[in-house]
Parts: sequence; C-alpha cells; structure tokens
Amino acid sequence: MRIITTIGEMQEVADSIRREGRDIGFVPTMGFLHEGHLSLIRMARQRADVVVVSIFVNPIQFGPGEDLATYPRDFERDCALAEKAGADIILHPEAEEMYGGDFLTYVEVGKITESLCGARRPGHFRGVATVCAKLFNAVKPHFAVFGQKDYQQSLVIRRMAADLNLDLDIITGPIIRESDGLAMSSRNTYLSSQERKEAAALQEALQLGVGLIREEERSVPALKEAMRQLIEEKPSARIDYLEIVDPDTLEELSTVGEHALLALAVYIGNTRLIDNILF
Ligand code: AMP
Repeated sequence: MRIITTIGEMQEVADSIRREGRDIGFVPTMGFLHEGHLSLIRMARQRADVVVVSIFVNPIQFGPGEDLATYPRDFERDCALAEKAGADIILHPEAEEMYGGDFLTYVEVGKITESLCGARRPGHFRGVATVCAKLFNAVKPHFAVFGQKDYQQSLVIRRMAADLNLDLDIITGPIIRESDGLAMSSRNTYLSSQERKEAAALQEALQLGVGLIREEERSVPALKEAMRQLIEEKPSARIDYLEIVDPDTLEELSTVGEHALLALAVYIGNTRLIDNILF
C-alpha cells in the first residue's frame, strides 16, 4: 500500500491509473477507522481496480468550540486496517497542503444544508463540500463511497456532484452498528462507560419511531414526543435536534406519508452523536 501526502503526486498517480484504463474508487475519511469506514473500503474494493482512502481531519468543517484539536487520531493503526480492508493508496495530506497560501474558494450547497446538522453547525457543510471537491480533483475517482450514517452529508455531496457536473458516481453504504445498535463513530471513544450505555438511546428512539409509524401513528408531533421521552430518560442525554423530514428535500413533515427520514443529534455528556433511519 502506498502513502501519498501531496496533491501533485496524487494527481500524477491518478492520471497514470486512468491512462491504463483502470477504475479508481475513493473513500474519504477523517481517520480513526472503525468497521463503518472499513465496510465502505470493502464496497469500493469490490467495484474498483484501485482503492484510494483519504485520511484528513478537515479543519474547515469544524466550528469554533468543536472538537478539532481533540479529534482522535492513530495513523499507523488506520493504515494497517485500511490495507487489510483493501486500500491500495492512502492520501494523507497536511492541512497546509490543502489550504496553504491564499485559500479563498469555498463550495456552498443551498437549501438542503439549512436543516438538521446544517442548522446546528454553521459552515459545516461548506467545509465538507469544499474538502470533497478538492479531494475529488486530487484523486480523480470514478466513484466515491459515503456512509448513510451522515445522511445529510451524502445528500449534499450528491447535489454538489450533480450541480457542478462532477464526473463521478456517488455510492452510499449502510450504517454499521455496535451490538446494542449504537452507530459506530470515531467520536464514540469520547464516551465514559455509563455514557456508552446511554448512547444506545439514539438508536432505540429511531426504532421506536419507525415501529410507531408501522403501527399507523403518522402524526410527526406525536412521533417526536414519544422519541423525545425515550431519550430524555437518560441522565446524560441532551437533544440537539430530533426531526422527521422528507428524505429528498430534508424539509420537515407534519405527517408521515410513504417515505420519511428520522434523524437526530444528541449530546451524551459532552459528546455529540448523530444517527438516522429511513422509513
Ligand atoms: P468520518 O471519518 O466520520 O468523516 O466518516 C468517513 C465516512 O465514513 C463517511 O462517509 C461516513 O458517513 C462514513 N461512516 C462513519 N461512520 C459510519 C458507520 N457507522 N457506518 C457506515 N459508514 C460510516
């Protein structure tokens, strides 16, 4: 497995892979890899000749007071795990390589970034869209794989790719969970053992919501209230948002029809966790 740290080298390597007629699959990550990331690398492995994984904690998607400085990092371990899952190349640039000099250009996706995490983390999706545009131009992938764990993120990247005529496919992989249902996340390492137990409430609330919908409770306020109660029973939990929205527009629903996205962000102690489920 090859480790590349500069955009120039990545572009040269991508050009030569493409000249040989081979397909490039790309999995962008912020590292501290877990089974969720590895499942996406394996998906890429099945579809591409060459799999590139980026490991880059992107400073411009963190807001003031968020966890940029403490975000968990273990590059050696990540390399070993990524290679085992099928990565051929790790792209691992420094922040200076990505944003050095007079960096002035950002990608803004409208409307679908205004709700859910976008409403709570101003500038977050601008940072995500910008870094993905830059990484796509470095890696020149035929397709990129994103996790449904970050549902809004994959919608934003799909929108950006369509609107800017980016010549790649966006593929979404399912959410990988711990045995008690907690969605895997690099941030789960922040949780104390008591918080770790209580964190299962996110998934339990989503399951409760979908269960009630299947039992024909279609009123969004009633569904949200039942979910809210389940979460607020946990002493360390504080809801950041809990929404039931249209899966395409991310606009709030008042009643659930054929499709809905149930999405939430909850602080467990000081750790902000997100999860979602599609009905
Ligand atoms: P991150 O390193 O958190 O930026 O995540 C990198 C990619 O892995 C994103 O596309 C995430 O949606 C995806 N991902 C993170 N956690 C999971 C999970 N539990 N299951 C599936 N994909 C995930």
